[in-house]
Amino acid sequence: MAYQLTDKFGRDITYLRLSVTDRCDLRCTYCMAENMTFLPRRDLLSFEELDFLCEAFVQRGVRKIRLTGGEPLVRKGLLPFIQKLSRHLSTGALDEITLTTNATQLHRFAGQLVDAGVRRINVSLDSLDRDVFKHLSRRDALDQVLGGIEAGLEAGLKIKINAVALKNGNAQEIPDMMRWAHGLGMDMTLIEVMPMGEIAQDRFDQYLPLSEVREQLEGEFTLVDTPLRTGGPARYVKVEQTGGILGFITPLTNNFCAGCNRVRVTCTGQIYMCLGQDDRVDLRAAIRSEDPLSALNAALDKAMINKPEAHDFNIKNPGSAPAVARHMSVTGG
Ligand code: SAM
Ligand code: SF4
Repeated sequence: MAYQLTDKFGRDITYLRLSVTDRCDLRCTYCMAENMTFLPRRDLLSFEELDFLCEAFVQRGVRKIRLTGGEPLVRKGLLPFIQKLSRHLSTGALDEITLTTNATQLHRFAGQLVDAGVRRINVSLDSLDRDVFKHLSRRDALDQVLGGIEAGLEAGLKIKINAVALKNGNAQEIPDMMRWAHGLGMDMTLIEVMPMGEIAQDRFDQYLPLSEVREQLEGEFTLVDTPLRTGGPARYVKVEQTGGILGFITPLTNNFCAGCNRVRVTCTGQIYMCLGQDDRVDLRAAIRSEDPLSALNAALDKAMINKPEAHDFNIKNPGSAPAVARHMSVTGG
């Protein structure tokens, strides 16, 4: 193995979150505007380039790759790409290939994902009520998503449900969603809305601190803290009544940066060292240079030097501008 990716604060980077497209078949209100302008296809890294990139990361100590987007399953050719990538699982160089999906297309791909070595995925779902789902995602796709989840579970995928907690959206529904997820053997994680990208709405009106949600849940359930850590922002509790695990991702009320083990790469090959900062390094230029591997390793070294200690999120004031200009769909969260 080449030298491990380690940033200047001594954090080893072992987790790559790779966005394979900025496109999506939903338009979740906290994530995108209805009339998003997507990138021209020529700007995207090809699957050959993505494979080259992943191999370089694996050689430098990345053990887990999460494919995300936009919606990863809407990019044509994703399955053959994952099948090829799975060689790193066979050699033991990678521990895990996983993805984050909205599950609208999961019914088509669940079996093939399992065959390619994918064992666990995250599914984003903010409501089990058809009208609320339609309102939040601007698409009437709840049945399709539930069908995808069913197909995933049947194929043997372990699924974690991710829900963004929204003040005027799903706040009342969270206990029922948790019961539903845990009842089907799925863990669930709640996410605070983050100020990323212009969305034609004020996130102040959407923001619901998870401390409030936790308090509400504690009126009904016994939440027992667990030491479970994934090197990321989530903190987990076990819910005594359901036996399931509930996670809280609280970038705004808690700072989670000290143990950060991850970087994010966009579908155009920009590496963002922090979800909450705009600083990036262009890996596509390196990959398309005359000596791609040396240039890529040099660019990764630069990224390690530039990785900031902590994010800069703040959503306290009505009307405040997003903390970062890009949308979550650019880096995939
Ligand atoms: N389309 C896929 C999905 O929805 O699972 C993958 C990409 S999506 C950008 C990844 C996650 O980011 C989803 O769970 C979504 O709810 C979350 N997300 C998007 N915008 C967000 C924001 N502004 N604040 C917090 N979470 C956000
Ligand atoms: Fe699409 Fe995911 Fe963003 Fe929703 S959160 S619009 S599903 S990328």
